[in-house]
Amino acid sequence: MKDTIYTIPLTDAFHAEDECPFCYIKRKLEQDAISFILGCAYMEDDIRATTDQMGFCSEHYKKMYDYGNRLGMALMLHTHYVALQKELTKKIEAFSPTKTSMFAKFKKAKTMDELAGNPISEWVNEQNHTCYVCDYIDKNFIRYMNTFFYLMETSPDFMALFKDCKGFCVTHFGDLMALSDTLVADKAKPEFYSILFDKMQTNLKRIEEDLSWFIDKYDYRNKDADWKNSKDAIPRGIQKLVGIYVQDPPFKEK
Ligand SMILES: [Zn+2]
Ligand SMILES: [Zn+2]
Repeated sequence: MKDTIYTIPLTDAFHAEDECPFCYIKRKLEQDAISFILGCAYMEDDIRATTDQMGFCSEHYKKMYDYGNRLGMALMLHTHYVALQKELTKKIEAFSPTKTSMFAKFKKAKTMDELAGNPISEWVNEQNHTCYVCDYIDKNFIRYMNTFFYLMETSPDFMALFKDCKGFCVTHFGDLMALSDTLVADKAKPEFYSILFDKMQTNLKRIEEDLSWFIDKYDYRNKDADWKNSKDAIPRGIQKLVGIYVQDPPFKEK
């Protein structure tokens, strides 16, 4: 693996001084996917066939609606409706009600997840869990993750960026841990884990302290005290946990 198209965006993400460089990458991928699909890609037959089939998740319908391009959105929704109805008709034709067993009658599900389901409910579930934008993000995100491990091993400059960064959100920390088993050479593992764990512990503590000072600022005695780094402790605190930017304005068509 040589330096690739992923190297520069990844390096930029580490230079951005974000709470998590991978959140930064993910946001960029999401915006790329939305502006690609609503730019003009929806006019291309093969892409439209994929979006017709996959649809979008609720989060990305909202973000695409916010982006603009109402005509593009309507065209995509329209052919998705056509495809969806065709599929539903097939599912309805193939459906036959099953007899409920005595056992099933007694054993009531306590949550929706416990329901056994039938071919149609499973199909609906599948519909709600496929999304063109999520799929685009996933496929590219793993390449950035791979590039991270590659650069760490081959580039001292990049290693310095890693040592210098503000750590990662808990979600992407989990991803790094999952990939590290196979992507970090055994002899490099002790150093890698020692840096990564230190990054996580130090930076979670930093945010905890920012939050603590944010709370203290509500004390009238601290009214005139400096905010230090606490002004945006809440949005950064949320990002560090779940990898989202709550303060971002809607991403819109230029
Ligand atoms: Zn993250
Ligand atoms: Zn999605």
